[in-house]
Amino acid sequence: MSEETKVTSTETAAPAAARAERPARPFGKKRFESRRKVCKVCAEKIDNVDYKNFQFVKSFTMESGKILSRRITGTCAKHQRQITKAIKRDRNLAILPYSLPKK
Ligand SMILES: [Zn+2]
Repeated sequence: MSEETKVTSTETAAPAAARAERPARPFGKKRFESRRKVCKVCAEKIDNVDYKNFQFVKSFTMESGKILSRRITGTCAKHQRQITKAIKRDRNLAILPYSLPKK
């Protein structure tokens, strides 16, 4: 009985010691760098997004024709609204695609 208890005590003690010996995680070091997203429309000082500027508007769409979300592009709410409107106008005018067929 006494031996069994001894074994269990050593078993529990060993991993604890190993945990203590393991080097600490490098907190505070460069694990990932968060880059600040800047609204492209604000940066270029465009006050109103124009549907005729389709080359610029196109940069906010995916290759498949989907509109990229604000989360991805980092545009501000005001300009995202203007961009979506411009994209939808361009789609209606057949300047931009609604979708592209899958290859
Ligand atoms: Zn903006």
